[in-house]
Amino acid sequence: MNTPSLAPARPDIPADLPPHRLSIVVPMYNEAENVEPLVERVQASLAGYPCPWELILVDDGSSDATPAELRRCAAKSAGHVRIVELSRNFKQTAATQAGIDASRGDVIVTMDGDLQNDPVDIPRMVGRLLREDLDLVAGWRKDRKDGFLLRKLPSLIANRLIARMTGVYLRDYGCSLKVFRASALKSLRLYGEMHRFIPAWLATVTTPRRIAQEVVTHHPRIFGESKYGISRTLRVVLDLIFVYFFMRFRSRPGHFFGGIGLMLGTAGGLILAYLATVKYVLHESIGTRPLLFLGFFLVIAAVQMISSGVLAEVLARVLFESGAVRSYLTRNQQQIEDSDGWQLDTPDSDSKK
Ligand code: UDP
Ligand code: MG
Repeated sequence: MNTPSLAPARPDIPADLPPHRLSIVVPMYNEAENVEPLVERVQASLAGYPCPWELILVDDGSSDATPAELRRCAAKSAGHVRIVELSRNFKQTAATQAGIDASRGDVIVTMDGDLQNDPVDIPRMVGRLLREDLDLVAGWRKDRKDGFLLRKLPSLIANRLIARMTGVYLRDYGCSLKVFRASALKSLRLYGEMHRFIPAWLATVTTPRRIAQEVVTHHPRIFGESKYGISRTLRVVLDLIFVYFFMRFRSRPGHFFGGIGLMLGTAGGLILAYLATVKYVLHESIGTRPLLFLGFFLVIAAVQMISSGVLAEVLARVLFESGAVRSYLTRNQQQIEDSDGWQLDTPDSDSKK
């Protein structure tokens, strides 16, 4: 085996980092050999970091020595490493969410636990997030070290598609190394295989203006093996359709179904009107015309679509009016909650100014 091609860590930490707390979340599934090098690498990259930081390692129900390795490394990490152990393999997205739930920082970094991402990039990305007041800085594996046909080509196509459909223009959605503002990330719930679409989901609570990308280093996998094969391409395509639907029609699903219903209904109505003219004005028989079937079919389909739309609207209303989800997100929630009572515009308060 060739030796790890990791260059020696060089803590290049921006001097002007505004105060914050940093949480790094890493899901790990059967990555026993990677635990120790990862922890060491993160520690080396963050040596002398001016703000408090924590590394949250999530054991996603591994069946190898990962949990034991995690505990061993946490014990000798001087309190920086925290572990979350899941009861079974819940997959990468859920494992990442578990880590996010456990995190306490106002800046959250996610990355892979297989050393393909390099923690050296973290301080630079965090600096950019805070300085430019962004909600997400996504890594871009410009020089990606994976196979071309099975990994890079599908991902190239997927990236183009996702960008077109979601309106969030990133070059590399698949890169796990991402830096988030915690308030934005914590307003999302991640499940299924959503981790690939986090930038798109994030765009439902922030503007694309607050999403930036940054070129990051990428290493080939040295220990362990990839958990995914080519079959994920199909799932990505399906997910993409659902993401598109949710982004456009989340709070007004009736418009989606209703829109299709109206189009079909108009076509069906026109066809039937034409046939009615033929029958009653021209007095020709229309009973055997295929067009008649098409007309009826379209009208029935339209009724179906519109009633699905009504149902979807009812569901959306139940969801939003239950108060469980808000249709908006504020950026200064804490300030709003902390600000004290009403200000009276009395001469007295004026003279204090
Ligand atoms: N992973 C996980 N649960 C799973 C599959 C993967 O926590 O069910 C973790 C894995 O340990 C790694 C990251 O998710 O830290 C990315 O997985 P992998 O490297 O296999 O994906 P690839 O880089 O090949 O896309
Ligand atoms: Mg990997």
